[in-house]
Amino acid sequence: MNRQANRFRPCHVRCAWVLLVTFFVSGCGTNLPSVLPSLGPPSEDEEVRISREFRREAKKHVKFVNDPEVERYIERIGQRILAAMGPQPFDYRFFVIEDPQLNAFAVPGGSIYFYSGLMERAKSTDEIAGVLGHEIVHIKGRHMARSSGFDMYSVLGLLSMLLLTRSGAGAQAAGAVGQAVAATREIAYSRQLEMEADTLGERYMAAAGYDPKGSVAFLKQLDQERNLSPVDIPPYLMTHPVTQERVANAELVLKSLGKTEPRVEIPDPLKKIKIIIRLQRHEGDAVLDEYRKLARQNPQDSEALHLYAFAQHMKGQLSEAKDNYEKARKLNPDNVALQRDLGRLYTQTGDFVSARAAFDRALALEPKESLTYLYLGELLENESDLRAAAGAYINALNLSPLWDRPPYRLGVVYSKLDRLGDAHYYLGRSFLLQDEDQKAIAEYERAIKISGENSPRGQVIREELKALRARRK
Ligand SMILES: [Zn+2]
Repeated sequence: MNRQANRFRPCHVRCAWVLLVTFFVSGCGTNLPSVLPSLGPPSEDEEVRISREFRREAKKHVKFVNDPEVERYIERIGQRILAAMGPQPFDYRFFVIEDPQLNAFAVPGGSIYFYSGLMERAKSTDEIAGVLGHEIVHIKGRHMARSSGFDMYSVLGLLSMLLLTRSGAGAQAAGAVGQAVAATREIAYSRQLEMEADTLGERYMAAAGYDPKGSVAFLKQLDQERNLSPVDIPPYLMTHPVTQERVANAELVLKSLGKTEPRVEIPDPLKKIKIIIRLQRHEGDAVLDEYRKLARQNPQDSEALHLYAFAQHMKGQLSEAKDNYEKARKLNPDNVALQRDLGRLYTQTGDFVSARAAFDRALALEPKESLTYLYLGELLENESDLRAAAGAYINALNLSPLWDRPPYRLGVVYSKLDRLGDAHYYLGRSFLLQDEDQKAIAEYERAIKISGENSPRGQVIREELKALRARRK
């Protein structure tokens, strides 16, 4: 809906407002978010605050897929696309919501939310990269500020409606959720901005080494779904309405890119991510059956064996998993993810020498993967080599500075090493990344007391505390 039309439909927006207040107050007992309303579209600074406030609300109302592999998978694609785009005004954060809906959306200021349902429906990582590229352009181009005409309060409110949205005619008739669906339509981007997000998103993902055919394929699939069931519209199609014109435009962009040479990861890591999502949805037995069949049909296929072993591993069948992992490794010793999975498995079974060898191999193949360092740190903690574990976690932190897991592990390891100043500092950082400002401030204050105001660490913390307190005002 465009700005012009909103002026003539004040009731629509007000209805959304009433629901917004209920939404914020009922779920959690907190008050409205501590952001100041402004007149006119939000500024860049305000967008960063919208992003943060929204993350806090989202945490209370939706379940995130809590798995380091999934978190890293989506962040890694995002980082690759961002690196191809050059300097950015925002710190981008990526989240996966556990929900079977086909949905993804961008929040101004740098937060992108994917639903696990969209990841299950995508056929390749290139398709995921296509959606991510599109969403990043909405944020970078500040499309919500340019199109909605709302002040930041209403942007935040309407965005929060997205969390209540369910697709389908039944859902639309069902009270609050139906209103949420209506509110979601309010923030659908204009045709021109959708085209801009498609065009630039496809160019950026291609520049990052993903196959631009993935962008086109996903749009085509959405267009087909829209035609097949016009009543049961997936939420993604409400905020990013797909038209023939968009599909044609994406194909033109593909043509204009000419011959590209994508740097495709083989095997596609999306398959493993889908297994994790299904296991979290308690479809473990079906997953095991499926991959057992695949592995039996293709006994010489390293990927089929690896995925079957991974499903067994996640289901706790460690010795069977080990045998299949090892068979898969013989067929393809250069698969980084397989080496890393073996490292984890051997850590769990107490075979630390084999675990170390597998992680070393993974790092030799790919020296800059924070996930490998995170799991290597776990192994070193198990071996009681706490100093080396801290070193591994610091590497993970440097490679993924916005990921909350490495600083959390560092906090734990430093407290075991009795380096309490460092322990509180890193726990504070982890809380900060989880948007838990109050807890972060408390940890930083403890850290500064122990490290001393004038120590190098003390000075760093003092600056961070100043910034944190200022943003709470
Ligand atoms: Zn869009």
